[in-house]
Amino acid sequence: MTNTAASFIAKSTIKAADLDHRRKINFNIGKYNSVVPLGKQQFADVMITREAAKNKKWDAIEHLDKYLEEFEKKITARGARVLWANDTKEAQEYIGAICREKNCKTLVKSKSMVTEEIHLNSYLEEHGIESVETDLGEYIQQLDGEPPYHIVTPAMHKSKEDVAKLFAQKLGTPGGLTPEELTLVARKKLREKYVQAEVGVTGANFILPDIGAIALTENEGNARLTSAWPKTHIVVVGIEKVIPSVHDLHLFWPLLSTFGTGQKVTVYNTILAGPRQPNERDGPEEMIVILLDNGRTNLLSNPVAREALYCIRCGACLNACPVYKNIGGHAYETTYSGPIGKVITPYLRGMDEYKHLSYASSLCGNCTEVCPVRINLHELLLNNRHEAVKQGNSSLAERLAWQAWKTASLSRLLMNSGNAKMKNWVVNKVFKGWTTHRSELDFSRKTFNERWKEERKA
Ligand code: SF4
Repeated sequence: MTNTAASFIAKSTIKAADLDHRRKINFNIGKYNSVVPLGKQQFADVMITREAAKNKKWDAIEHLDKYLEEFEKKITARGARVLWANDTKEAQEYIGAICREKNCKTLVKSKSMVTEEIHLNSYLEEHGIESVETDLGEYIQQLDGEPPYHIVTPAMHKSKEDVAKLFAQKLGTPGGLTPEELTLVARKKLREKYVQAEVGVTGANFILPDIGAIALTENEGNARLTSAWPKTHIVVVGIEKVIPSVHDLHLFWPLLSTFGTGQKVTVYNTILAGPRQPNERDGPEEMIVILLDNGRTNLLSNPVAREALYCIRCGACLNACPVYKNIGGHAYETTYSGPIGKVITPYLRGMDEYKHLSYASSLCGNCTEVCPVRINLHELLLNNRHEAVKQGNSSLAERLAWQAWKTASLSRLLMNSGNAKMKNWVVNKVFKGWTTHRSELDFSRKTFNERWKEERKA
């Protein structure tokens, strides 16, 4: 077992027994579950909308090269710069070079999982640049020195009392502040940072190749301030975020908001097509878009797993997953947790180190059921297991055990030989790996053939 797998099992075991954690998660996911059906009422036929969105993403991912080049050409024509980053290191170095060039001491950042993926905050900190999270949930997590717990609601595991305590400890506020008071404290602190920051960094929810733009979705207005206030705006975005056209936003905006938070539409939806133009009064002087691969082309090169690139990061599969609800977002120790994280992380970070995640599933299919772009998540988890074995990422003991199981299952003679007690002993005691985290198998006292004969006689 790899160290990452051992650590995942250890952390999951502790979290699954943490009843206070479970209470907070159930409370927050319960609130989410109560509003999503209301949001869905806006669709005349939600299934047709989801299928249409899936088809659009199929088009985008199948023609990714063409769309990305079109995006680069069009946004460059409006004065933006496009940089292509193969991996974390290249993306960090691009951002580091821009910050040096701009003599940047403070940088503001809006919520973006891709910047988590490239560990941007710690990289900037090492280089003497203050990086300030401006999304309230991310700000709370940054104050607490924790990574986001969930891809949409980063501080989902904290109660309002936890946040009040944290603010009192870190910012010296009086204890027991209400959520409104806490928000005002954060707002005041963050406004000062916008004014000081030389550079603003955002992600992008969608890349719009036909008009050469990116689209941002948010509820707090902080991404607008981050992209418009500092003189330089850097966008870090995964290459899979393409949708074919700006006209497809009528599908994706409501789907993202309803499946993400239950809203009909998110509060602020912004389309940015380059830096401030000569006839415009607002906006940054410079806009740089970093298109990040970081393992996404590994997914692209696999015709089955490629479907995972359709993800619009709504977080619905996390909220629906019985495993996520028990072990929480941090046990995974990956940027992307829950079902989608389990599917993509082995491709982004290596099959050998992260294949264990694909096994942390009951394969109940609830993730597939709730995904707004109908990604077959539970089947992709099975596909990952298959890939791991194909690539030789399984131990000899595991291969021998499954070979023995297959031989026995395909042989009527072997299935009929011995009694249930002996079979139980072989499976539960000889192949001990099975029962480490599962209850023991209990074979039927009578074989299928014995029961068949009895039935026929009767
Ligand atoms: S896989 Fe589907 S449900 Fe999960 S985050 Fe992505 S779009 Fe949402």
